[in-house]
Amino acid sequence: MVIAIDGPAGAGKSTVAREVARVLGFTFMDSGAMYRCVALAALERGVQPDEPAAVSELARGLDIELEGPVVRLDGRDVGEAIREPKVTAAASRLSVHPEVREAMVARQRRMIESGDYVAEGRDIGTVVSPDAALKVFLTASEEERARRRSQQTNEPFEQVLTAIRARDERDSTRRHGALRAAEDAVELDTTGVPAEEVVQRVVALATERGVA
Ligand code: C5P
Repeated sequence: MVIAIDGPAGAGKSTVAREVARVLGFTFMDSGAMYRCVALAALERGVQPDEPAAVSELARGLDIELEGPVVRLDGRDVGEAIREPKVTAAASRLSVHPEVREAMVARQRRMIESGDYVAEGRDIGTVVSPDAALKVFLTASEEERARRRSQQTNEPFEQVLTAIRARDERDSTRRHGALRAAEDAVELDTTGVPAEEVVQRVVALATERGVA
């Protein structure tokens, strides 16, 4: 059983997905962490994020393990390293390549095919798990999303706002796995709404649909 939670950067996906998974006893899958692992490996090995052939070869060969919130790249705990702003920027650039997406989507499908998952990302409801039992698309105003991110990372607000706009633009305009709500997704605007309330809403939707 899969609950898909998609949306733009800073919409609250991770916080909400993690908590919904805990409440329902499902496993949390952070698909963005996979793209971030590829980005970290690319930066460390001097592979250019804009080189599709080299990045996708790298993406296919990596050992990426997600165990709930723990992220391991080739056996190493990279939970913090993948949140660095330069990794964030590189992940956004390399995730436009269809070959890279194919490799990541295949891994994600393998993971969620056995068990109950709350999976978050950009294309879970549209590409990775189009048959998900519940699809939620979280949004929030640009300003609020940038404010949340800047509180998490301690980067200046204006800098985060500019980076978020660039990431949203790339995510929304790419040809494969573009950021968009699935037709059957429930859209929730989280602007000014505390995370606990969003969690309750998603849990209620899951219960209504007999998912949990
Ligand atoms: O969600 P997060 O910010 O960790 O994702 C990092 C980057 O990975 C995003 O900027 C996005 O471009 C990409 N991504 C993606 N598809 C997903 C999840 C993340 O393209 N399902």
